[in-house]
Amino acid sequence: MSLPSPRPLLAHTVDELTGRVTEMGGRPFHARIAREALIAGARSYDEMTSLPADLRSALTDEIPLLSSEVREETRASDGATKLLLGFAGREEDMDEVETVHIPPHNPKSPKGATLCVSTQVGCPVACPFCASGLAGLVRNLEAHEILEQFLRGLDVGPIGRAVVMGIGEPLLNYPNVRAALDVVNAELGIGARKVTLSTVGFPDRVREIAPTKPPFQLAISLHTPFDAERDDLVPAMRGVPIDDILAAGDDWFRATHREVTYEYVLLGGDNDSPHHAEELGRRLRGRRATVNLIPWNPLTLFEGDPELPRYRRPSPDAVTAFQEAVQAVGTVTTIRWSRGLESDAACGQLRLRLAARGRAD
Ligand code: SAH
Repeated sequence: MSLPSPRPLLAHTVDELTGRVTEMGGRPFHARIAREALIAGARSYDEMTSLPADLRSALTDEIPLLSSEVREETRASDGATKLLLGFAGREEDMDEVETVHIPPHNPKSPKGATLCVSTQVGCPVACPFCASGLAGLVRNLEAHEILEQFLRGLDVGPIGRAVVMGIGEPLLNYPNVRAALDVVNAELGIGARKVTLSTVGFPDRVREIAPTKPPFQLAISLHTPFDAERDDLVPAMRGVPIDDILAAGDDWFRATHREVTYEYVLLGGDNDSPHHAEELGRRLRGRRATVNLIPWNPLTLFEGDPELPRYRRPSPDAVTAFQEAVQAVGTVTTIRWSRGLESDAACGQLRLRLAARGRAD
């Protein structure tokens, strides 16, 4: 049996780290120097030359600087870099998450790159069109593991925005997600309006979080305006009426003054009919909300697998027609054309692909 791994630097509060550093003979302010240097890009204690040499070597022996390692890195032609991260002491198969660094379309854009982070290893929600939940939930990520994804992303390049849209359902691991995002806000300087957290909805949790000055904007995955259909598309939300989700979104807007984005994965021939567009527009009309359409990214890994429900990516014309039909009813609608399709754009696929291939080689 493997011994538990020592806690890495970011798993310590500043007070805890100060205590450890003084036990090692350092001065209290050395703790803050080490933490800031890590966030600023140091990847070994030896690079922290403003710390005394003895302290650097004691820290190297006792407190791992990071717990994550990049197990695979793929880069798509559009510049998106997908990282597969594993964690020390958790070498068993599939205990890995994906983090994607997505540069802006226009390289001169002042918006900077967007980082997409994961919150759980696997996902318990089990949406049938999504690769992340196909193998269920393994575990929640720790706050420092969520935070480390930002540091690994910064190693790829500067980050201007973040989306909590990787593997996992963030509201089922909220305390850890929140702790990480508070640090991202305070210490990485990525403001609340530049971070978007995407969830399947949990109305009570949305209402609970709204008044707590959350350091992010909210996106809710709706995927259909019909209750019975949503029960199938978002199984963990079975029985939760769409009305209740929309009402919670309204409460969110009242408490935060930030509009909710409703995400809608477009599954060709399934939820992209004129009837869907009209009903979606009707339900959202008059609300402070926008719709973000996501043409489905095929799970290329599973092509030909008869066990899996088959979906189709709608044609560009069908996507535009759906957008126009929703807008005609009076709801602002944008389209997210996913990038990096050739690098397993559908989130969760890289993790499954490597696991399926067996990474003993
Ligand atoms: N658990 C969160 C975060 C998921 S990822 C949530 O469900 O909101 C962000 C969005 O991508 C969600 O709306 C999700 O349904 C969608 N998505 C998942 N797999 C997809 C795929 N293969 N193609 C397009 N969108 C997908």
